[in-house]
Amino acid sequence: MAGHPWVYQGAIQNVTHEPKDGEIVQVRDHRRRFLGIGLYNSKSKIRVRVLSRTRQDFDTDFFYRRFKAAHAFRQKLMPGATSYRLVSAEGDELSGLIVDKYNDICSIQISSLGMEQRKPQIIEALKKLYAPSAIVERTDIASRKAEGLETPESALTIHSDSEVAPKTTINLNDIEFEVDFKTGHKTGFYLDQQVNYRLATDLVERWDAKRILDCFSYQGGFALHLANLPNRSVLAIDQSEEAIAQAKRNAEANQVGNQCEFKVANVFDWLKEAQKSTRADSPENKFDAIVLDPPSFTRNRASVRDALRGYKEIHLRALRLLKERGLLFSYCCSHHVDQDIFEEVIATAAYDNRQCLRRVAVFHQAPDHPIIPTVPETEYLKGFAYELLPR
Ligand code: SAH
Repeated sequence: MAGHPWVYQGAIQNVTHEPKDGEIVQVRDHRRRFLGIGLYNSKSKIRVRVLSRTRQDFDTDFFYRRFKAAHAFRQKLMPGATSYRLVSAEGDELSGLIVDKYNDICSIQISSLGMEQRKPQIIEALKKLYAPSAIVERTDIASRKAEGLETPESALTIHSDSEVAPKTTINLNDIEFEVDFKTGHKTGFYLDQQVNYRLATDLVERWDAKRILDCFSYQGGFALHLANLPNRSVLAIDQSEEAIAQAKRNAEANQVGNQCEFKVANVFDWLKEAQKSTRADSPENKFDAIVLDPPSFTRNRASVRDALRGYKEIHLRALRLLKERGLLFSYCCSHHVDQDIFEEVIATAAYDNRQCLRRVAVFHQAPDHPIIPTVPETEYLKGFAYELLPR
């Protein structure tokens, strides 16, 4: 009733006829009042994913109308963006479907059986809206299994005439990134920090922070934005060799190769080592700004405590490498760790180091990843910027 589209198996009192998997069903409340229609799947704990609060067909035209509305929402909030998430599943009332637009290529990800069955209509609707040069599909997502969906051997399917796995170079805030649909994470890249790259760059400029550390850099999202400011030096660290190799190519392409140094390393280990060689009394080795943008350390509620330990450890160590009046940017992309808990972890780490942080900014996922407050799963990325106060 409040707009959450998932109907769990345990919430169903009565099924009036046994629907086929993927079929459209009506959902009614305990008094048989009509709530909406959705797609049924007996193999999933989420029995029904509601897609509409009125009766209609889920045909090509339905998807076209939804995609058009999703496009209009992005045009209002990110008018200049050429690459963005067009469809963010529940955030766009299309549970089970993600569509990212990278220039004129659409990269889709389907995680529900009902959507899988309607792939031809989805592809038709995308062609009608954007006339994309290619539509690619990433099927390497764990959640497909929970829906009883097959995961094809190849992680990438190409729904276009050309057989070559396409690549494209996207432009985010005037910085260029090469997207490889085969090897890139998720649908090829992370788009959810698009706005935060710009906000972080503004702050680094105002603080005149020159020596910057980017931890969990992936292909250089933060590193390249920050290195593009004059007279900066950025050290970017990621454990993935592939990501760092791509980050280096991206740095060259943006003419900031000389301002960047890249390292393949485990951030936890690297911070530990760096801390040993950076004594408290040698501030010249410390950083003016540090970015921490780790992967989600937890995918479920059960492992939240372990995740918090991980978050605390990187903050404890990173903060010892930050100069006084320097900036810490810290992000958390786990839905199970909310903004308050996350900030408490950061504050506790600082306290244990006998440091004190002053909050400078709060960050959220970019608006092409919309949040519906009654669907808590739609809100996952949060972040803060702090200034380290002098002792
Ligand atoms: N900041 C990036 C996104 C980071 S995604 C951007 O703006 O695009 C998280 C990254 O952390 C991935 O690239 C992954 O390879 C890396 N990673 C995960 N665990 C790590 C670890 N222990 N040490 C170093 N890198 C790690």
